[in-house]
Amino acid sequence: MIKVAKFGGSSLADAAQFRKVAKIVLSDPSRRYVVPSAPGKRNKEDVKITDMLYACYEETARTGEISPVFGKIKQRYDEIISELGLNISLEKDYEAIKNAFIARVGKDYAASRGEYLNAKIMSEFLGFDFIDAAEVVFFNDNGSFDAPKTYNVMRERLKDSERAVIPGFYGVTANDTIKTFSRGGSDITGAIVASAADADEYENWTDVSGVMIADPRIVENPKNISVLTYRELRELSYMGATVLNEDAIFPVKKAGIPIHIKNTNAPEDEGTLIVTHTDKNNESSVLTGIAGKKGFTVLTLEKDMMNEEIGFGRRLLNVLEKNGMSFEHLPSGIDTMSVVVNDHELEGKEDVIISELMASTMPDSISIEKNIALIAVVGRGMKNAKGTAASVFRALADEDINIRMIDQGSSELNIIVGVDNSDFEKSIKTIYSKFVK
Ligand code: ASP
Repeated sequence: MIKVAKFGGSSLADAAQFRKVAKIVLSDPSRRYVVPSAPGKRNKEDVKITDMLYACYEETARTGEISPVFGKIKQRYDEIISELGLNISLEKDYEAIKNAFIARVGKDYAASRGEYLNAKIMSEFLGFDFIDAAEVVFFNDNGSFDAPKTYNVMRERLKDSERAVIPGFYGVTANDTIKTFSRGGSDITGAIVASAADADEYENWTDVSGVMIADPRIVENPKNISVLTYRELRELSYMGATVLNEDAIFPVKKAGIPIHIKNTNAPEDEGTLIVTHTDKNNESSVLTGIAGKKGFTVLTLEKDMMNEEIGFGRRLLNVLEKNGMSFEHLPSGIDTMSVVVNDHELEGKEDVIISELMASTMPDSISIEKNIALIAVVGRGMKNAKGTAASVFRALADEDINIRMIDQGSSELNIIVGVDNSDFEKSIKTIYSKFVK
C-alpha cells in the first residue's frame, strides 16, 4: 500500500503544525511520499511565504538591492528549524536565493523557493529523502506540463526512494528554468506524484475536514460528504464548490486513484473520499451536495410547431457560436427552447444576439430573464430514489420561492433549478434542511 500525502500551507505554517504533520506521516508506514506547500498564514493577519517571496522578488528586481522582506522570510524558516530542534542550516540556500533574486532569475523561481526550503526542512524532520521537484517535474518550452517526461523520470526516481519529500508547486523547463504551476499548484504536484508512484490513495491534508454538503457561508454548520464520485465533484465544482484545482484532479482521476481530503488539525475526522465509482450512498442524505451560482440569464424562444422544424436548435446555437458565446444549459419544451448563459458572456452583446436570433430562427417571441441563480442538487443516489425532484420543488414552493427554470441532467446525477438571485441563499438553506437530517 502506498499513500502520497500532500500538505497545504496552513498545515505547515509553523513548527507546531510541522509536528502535527510528522505525527500523521509517521503513524502510517504507507505514507511514503510527502508533498509540502510553502508555509501559509499562522493567523488571519499573517502573510503566506509565497506572497512574501513574490513581493520580495518584485522589490529586489525594481531596486537592484535585496528587499528587507528577505530577512523576514529567512526568519520564518529559521524559527521553524530552531523550534523543531533541527541541526541544519539553510544559510547556503539563502545566499544562493538572494543572489538569484539580485540577478533577476524570474518570479517563478522566486515563488518556488517557498516549497523548496519547506521540503528540505520537512525531509530532515521526517528522516525522509529530499527529491527536488526540478529533477522530476518537467515543462515543455511552450510552458505546458510535459507529462511523458515527468512520469518517466519520476517513476524511476521514486523506485530509488523508499520514503521521500518532494516540494510542490514547481518544476523545470527544457532550458533549465524553474517554472511554477498556477497558484495552489502543490495540489497538482501531489496528484502527479501519486500517479507516478502508482499510489493506492492521494491524501490531501488541509484545514477543513473535507467537502461539505453545502457552502458553510450559507448553511450553518453543514455536514460533511463522506464519499463523493469524481463526476459529482465535477458537477459541484462547476457550480462554485471549490475543492481542488481541476488540473490537480486529472492525473489521479485518470489513474483511478482515490483522493482523500483530510484535516491536519483533526486527523481523526473521516474526511471526504473522492472515488471513480461507488455503490454506496451517503448516509445522511440522498443528496451528495448542493452548490450554486448567481448571475445567469435565460433566453427563451417560443415558436409554434417548433418541434417539427428541422434545424431550429442548430440555428439558435449557431448564433451563439458566431458570437463566441458558450452556454450552460439548454432546457426545451415542445414549442420553446431556452438557453442559459452566464451574464458576463452576454455583456455588451445582448442587442446583437437578439436581432441575430430573430433573423435566423424567426421565433414568435423571445423573452429574456435576468438575475437568475442556478442551484445544482447533486447526488448519485437520486437515480434510485423516487420523488427527489418533487420534494425539491415542494420545499421551495412551501417557502414561497418561485422556480424560474428546471433542468435535469440525463444522467440523473443532478437537478438544476433556476431561481431569482435574491432567492439564492434561501433556496439552498431550504433544500439542505429538507434533505439532510
Ligand atoms: N504556495 C503556493 C501558493 O501559495 C502553492 C500551493 O500552496 O499549493 O499558491
